[in-house]
Amino acid sequence: MTSTQAALPLAHVLPVSATLTGEGTLAVGGCDLAALAREYGTPLYAYDHATLRAQCRGFLDAFREEYPETDAVYAAKAFLNRPFAQLIAAEGYGFDAVSGGEIAVLGASGVDMSTVYFHGNNKGPDELALAIEAGVGRVVIDNIDEIGVLEAVAAEMGATQPVLVRLSPGVDAYTHEKTTTGILDTKFGIPIATGAAERALEAIAAADHVEFRGLHVHLGSPIFRLDPYVLAIEVIAEFWADVVRDRLGLDMPEFSIGGGFAVAYRGEQEPPEPAAYAGAIAGALRREADARGLALPRLTIEPGRSLVARAGIALYTVGARKEVPGIRTYVSVDGGMSDNVRPAMYDSPYEVIAVERPLDAAEETITLAGKYCESGDVLARDVAVPRLLAGEVVAMPAAGAYHLSMASNYNLAMKPACLLLDDGDVRVLRRRETPEDLMALDVDLDA
Ligand SMILES: *Cc1c(COP(=O)(O)O)cnc(C)c1O
Repeated sequence: MTSTQAALPLAHVLPVSATLTGEGTLAVGGCDLAALAREYGTPLYAYDHATLRAQCRGFLDAFREEYPETDAVYAAKAFLNRPFAQLIAAEGYGFDAVSGGEIAVLGASGVDMSTVYFHGNNKGPDELALAIEAGVGRVVIDNIDEIGVLEAVAAEMGATQPVLVRLSPGVDAYTHEKTTTGILDTKFGIPIATGAAERALEAIAAADHVEFRGLHVHLGSPIFRLDPYVLAIEVIAEFWADVVRDRLGLDMPEFSIGGGFAVAYRGEQEPPEPAAYAGAIAGALRREADARGLALPRLTIEPGRSLVARAGIALYTVGARKEVPGIRTYVSVDGGMSDNVRPAMYDSPYEVIAVERPLDAAEETITLAGKYCESGDVLARDVAVPRLLAGEVVAMPAAGAYHLSMASNYNLAMKPACLLLDDGDVRVLRRRETPEDLMALDVDLDA
């Protein structure tokens, strides 16, 4: 296999190991993608281990360079199963979990549960008990009601649970309305502006089985700008000094800035480098802490998408073509919103690459449609491609985050297989679903 990555279009959107084979087809992780599609069938997802490692190390190294006391946790909702959890843990990351299901999978994968942060705006008493039982390191309090529930559950179990408090700082992250979470009008976090955050801190200070460790903020995702992070740190530092320290006399050994770091889904997108996020965040934290005489806390980052999106690639086989003259040409593939709901839900843009001829010039602009029974089931709108032929394989890069984790069995679609590619080695992380899987949970009426 020759290495001609420089000549490869979209190299910064594709996995870092992407290259051309001697036959001019697209390879990732030392594997010919068209051959994988034939062997494992499509739709097919593959993660490139080299990209996963590079992203995990890139973020952790960049932050520790700027701020040595940094811990990193992977937002597991971006994609999680047992083998994947082990790959991430091996990079020195802990985990953000948002449900009893994620905690159960993390527990079964054997990762150190003390590195797990339990998030969510409506954790039930059962889930909180499960989390304490599992030994999660931090519960991230998301609203005032949760404090009383956690106190009762922890008291009952004879435990004291360390917590962070998720604040809503009233900062716009300039991202899609469905993925912005730091503004006042959001279901996430406790608003500072309304006085709720102060009442929450008072309740925690008074609770015997809840131990305050620090403040948390997560502004949304993907965030292509640095200023929302800086602004959020300014707002939080004021609350930290005035309320946490001066009014309540609490120490704050930890602070989490959340995640939301952006990735390139399309060639023209240029997200900040990890070092730029790290510089802005560490700089603001030092500046604000110094200005107020606050002791520097440990910093936690919670990247999800930015660790795994670029590592993943989705493969589909081209099928039907429908031309509406003067309006639009639809080219349909054998997957769609069942495996990638992001275009339908967030209007997310993507690139489409003809895997067997990635260097071929674009000949037309088409809309790549999924095969499911929704007009909104479109994977990519107005993409320029060579004239795609039925039976050929196309790839959609940057497919590693919020695809399979949001996958559904709509139309009783069977979820795709997912591979791990590493320097020519192919491992199955998740097999393709079968009709038996679709029926596995049914209980027959005459049973
Ligand atoms: C989803 C989420 C993240 C990660 O977001 P990404 O865009 O995937 O980096 C981090 N923290 C919290 C609390 C989240 O809900």
